[in-house]
Amino acid sequence: MAPPSKICLVADIHSNFAALQAVVQDAGEVDAWWCMGDLVGYGPDPNQCVELLAELGAVSVAGNHDAGSIGKLSLGRFNLDARVAAEWTGRVLSESSTRILDALEETRAEEDCGAFLVHGSPSDPLWEYMTSASQAEHNFEAFTEDICFCGHSHVPIVFATPGRGEQEGVAQVVPADGETIELAGDRRYLANVGSVGQPRDGDPRASYVMFEPRAKLITYYRVAYQVERTQGRMVEAGLPAFLIKRLALGR
Ligand code: ZN
Repeated sequence: MAPPSKICLVADIHSNFAALQAVVQDAGEVDAWWCMGDLVGYGPDPNQCVELLAELGAVSVAGNHDAGSIGKLSLGRFNLDARVAAEWTGRVLSESSTRILDALEETRAEEDCGAFLVHGSPSDPLWEYMTSASQAEHNFEAFTEDICFCGHSHVPIVFATPGRGEQEGVAQVVPADGETIELAGDRRYLANVGSVGQPRDGDPRASYVMFEPRAKLITYYRVAYQVERTQGRMVEAGLPAFLIKRLALGR
C-alpha cells in the first residue's frame, strides 16, 4: 500500500482540549493523525481529548501519564503535582476513555511510512527523556525504521545520524515555527514533535508536526490557543496551581 501523503503528528496533549482544538483547526485536511502518547494527565479535559482523537481516527501509543492515570503504572515515579493530576484524571475518565487508553501499545511501527512511534525513547518507551545527541545515539540501535517520532520531554528537537561518508556523530536541530526538514535517504532520524498541551521550551503555543512520507519532509508548527480557557477549567477542577501557571509560560 502506498503511504499517505500527509500525516499530522501530535504528542503530550495532556487533557488540554483548547490546545488540541487549535491544532486540529490549524492542521486542516490530513490523511492521518498519529499521537506519541500522554493524551491525558495534568490538564482539565481528558475525556474530550481522548474522544476527539478517536473521532480523528488517530493512531496512538501509550505515554506514562496515560498508563499512570488508569492504574496500569505505579505513580511512585511521578512528582507530587503530576500524581495529584493523574489521580484526578483516573477519577473523571469515562469507561470508554479508559478502555481506549488501556488498549494503547507502548510502541508502534508504521511500515508503509518507514516510521516508528514511541512516547519516551525506543529503548525505554515510557520513561526516557531524549534531550541530547548522546542519549539519542544509542537509541538509533533500538529501532530499525528510517525515522522515530517521540514526545515526553515537551521540547521539539530532531536528531540525525551522520550521512554516508560523514565523520561527525549524531547531529541535532531545534526546528523553528514553520521550519521544514528534508529527510535524507542516507540518514536516520529521531524527531520529538513537541507538546500540544504543555510546551516546555519557553513558547506557550501548541506544537505539532506535519509529516509527508512520500515527499520525505517534516514541518514543525506552533499555534496559539486560548491558554486562559484551559487555565479556567483547571481552576474549576481544583488542579495544582503550578500546573495552571506553567501553561502561560511554556515552561
Ligand atoms: Zn508528557
